[in-house]
Amino acid sequence: PAYQAAEDRYDDTMSYRPAGESGLRLPAISLGLWQNFGTEVPLEQCRAILRHAFDRGVTHFDLANNYGPPYGSAETNFGTLLAQDFRPYRDELIISTKAGYDMWPGPYGQGGGSRKYVLASLDQSLSRMGLDYVDIFYSHRFDPDTPLEETMGALASAVQQGKALYVGISSYSPAKTREAHALLAGMGVRLLIHQPSYSMLNRWIEPDLLDALGELGVGCIGFSPLAQGMLTGRYLNGIPADSRAARDGSLSQSMLSEENLDRIRALNDIAKSRGQSLAQLALAWTLRDTRMTSTLIGASSVKQLDDNLGALSGLDFTDSELAEIDKHAVE
Ligand code: NDP
Repeated sequence: PAYQAAEDRYDDTMSYRPAGESGLRLPAISLGLWQNFGTEVPLEQCRAILRHAFDRGVTHFDLANNYGPPYGSAETNFGTLLAQDFRPYRDELIISTKAGYDMWPGPYGQGGGSRKYVLASLDQSLSRMGLDYVDIFYSHRFDPDTPLEETMGALASAVQQGKALYVGISSYSPAKTREAHALLAGMGVRLLIHQPSYSMLNRWIEPDLLDALGELGVGCIGFSPLAQGMLTGRYLNGIPADSRAARDGSLSQSMLSEENLDRIRALNDIAKSRGQSLAQLALAWTLRDTRMTSTLIGASSVKQLDDNLGALSGLDFTDSELAEIDKHAVE
């Protein structure tokens, strides 16, 4: 049956926060398709997660050229589901993609920030998703071998060609962020947003990057706020066979060290005392600074997604709760 989005999708607890000093608002919780949306996952499972997210007010889906596995397959699957389910809702969606990592053979597909690679990759992404524009197009990583002016020029061209409404950068240092912002401004394009990693186990953006973003009026959407699942109940009793850590992937089992597990157990106790799950605590914590536009989660099931969206009804912290969290979070 054809998909009908829930009528009450904007009545729920979702809030929409401004991306820096722009006119664009993003949902406090956004959904990324890095993992769980490639060819190894049944399309019906991808469909169920995306439908449920949109039904609960998640208007932002984040992709990249290389999401899958294999590379490109998350965009291809997303394109299929967009055509079948979400096409009537295109103007209610913020869809982002990125270029920066290796994608195709030869010197122009190896990633980085050349104009040749960045603009060809965007065209490939648009074609896989069946879109004529994305809402946000990112430089996925800083490339020390390409002049920043060339990379930012490619982003500006994407906007001027109507292939992206806004542009962003991911994982750039505070200094390179300032340079990128200035270069884009010189080309008449605003740097909308930065996408860095951010969680209770990874606080590198505090304070320099967040201060820079606040000053420049650039938004911030933090990725892997659950530390890829470590900041949830997932690993409290070992490593489940269907978990990311059990797969041969990005979450290495060495990250589940006794030291980290001690932190996770202590944070879980704090979550309990607040009447939240650990995932809910971890997500609410990443949103406590108003300079954070959104927190960007992954989910391998509708159940996980619902648990995570439950964070929205417990976003406030007392000073003593924050101090207690500081004792266990990574500095
Ligand atoms: P998270 O830290 O949210 O980890 C998501 C994983 O945690 C899920 O796949 C699931 O793992 C587990 N999980 C999620 N919710 C729960 C829950 N309630 N209970 C138990 N387990 C749960 O984020 P990701 O690392 O997936 O990254 C999110 C997004 O950020 C990506 O999709 C991408 O869009 C973006 N990103 C960007 C990067 C960049 O360089 N710009 C790099 C990395 C991510 P399991 O599979 O074990 O069920």
